[in-house]
Amino acid sequence: MKQLDIVIPCYNEKDNIRTIYGAIADVMQEAENVSFSVIYIDDGSSDDTMAEILALESEYGCAKVKYISFSRNFGKESAIYAGLQASSGDYAVLMDADHQDPPALLPAMLAVLTRRESGEDCVAVRRIDRKGEPIARSWFANRFYALMNKFSDVKMEPGARDFRMMTAQMRDSILALSERERFSKGLFAWVGFKTKWLELPNVPRAAGETKWSFWGLFKYALSGIVAFTTAPLRIASFAGVLTVLMAIIYAAYRLIRWQALFTTDAIIIFIVLFFSGVTVSFLGIIGEYIARIYREVKQRPVYIIAKSNIKVKMVDRRMDSGIKPE
Ligand code: UDP
Ligand code: MG
Repeated sequence: MKQLDIVIPCYNEKDNIRTIYGAIADVMQEAENVSFSVIYIDDGSSDDTMAEILALESEYGCAKVKYISFSRNFGKESAIYAGLQASSGDYAVLMDADHQDPPALLPAMLAVLTRRESGEDCVAVRRIDRKGEPIARSWFANRFYALMNKFSDVKMEPGARDFRMMTAQMRDSILALSERERFSKGLFAWVGFKTKWLELPNVPRAAGETKWSFWGLFKYALSGIVAFTTAPLRIASFAGVLTVLMAIIYAAYRLIRWQALFTTDAIIIFIVLFFSGVTVSFLGIIGEYIARIYREVKQRPVYIIAKSNIKVKMVDRRMDSGIKPE
């Protein structure tokens, strides 16, 4: 009997906790030789999410309904990390609480990993459209993927959801990457392994509201770019060299024409402004990376557990908060 761990990050999802469990239990009835458990990660919800989870736990038992509840909202990435750490089965799958990742796909995903026809360690789901999504959001998302795939060594699949099932081996590889500011889409691509892509039209959220603001997504994309490419740094050095060259050519031109250099106030002002502008903008880019280094060296845990009914495997010892499960 194989064991599947279903990791579900939940932030104010009270209306979805029970229905998603029901939908999962329904489809998993048909899966032969695989038993499942759901690991809910309550990411500091302020609604009745936790009460719903506890009610489910008392109904179906702690072998089926596991949970970790964070001390505050740490973000979906932290929840994914905690869920994977808590997973000890043969397979782990990440799924949203809002039914946008349809549980009906689970048997097909399991089939890929049990047969491993081309040696797959991962099955992931890609949206083939972004219907029902704000146009600006789709546009920025597409630009983001284009940029990432141009400048970064790891290739990210456009439209990829976080809906992924993986083998224990791949899960443990992901956990071995101990960086604090996590960008899972990049991490999955970085660890490699053969991934089979399933395609799915966009499914609207079942209940509640999206937890992403436009600004939140923008920051998330920026964090992904800084995490997976140093291209902005390279652009900075390139543009720096270019502007210096321009200044030299300008000076040479004035000398050849026997015009004294820097006679006109306006030109001086232009040059001063131009170069200080360039310098400051590049300091900003460098600052992005330094800020990141700063946050990484602090080695803060990715999340803090307030309450849980499972023993979380701490692959990265530095993460051990010393909190024991109840
Ligand atoms: N989520 C979370 N922490 C957060 C934000 C979201 O755990 O800070 C969860 C949320 O409960 C849901 C999943 O991540 O299960 C995806 O969130 P959402 O549906 O809001 O994102 P979208 O589908 O709009 O990209
Ligand atoms: Mg959603």
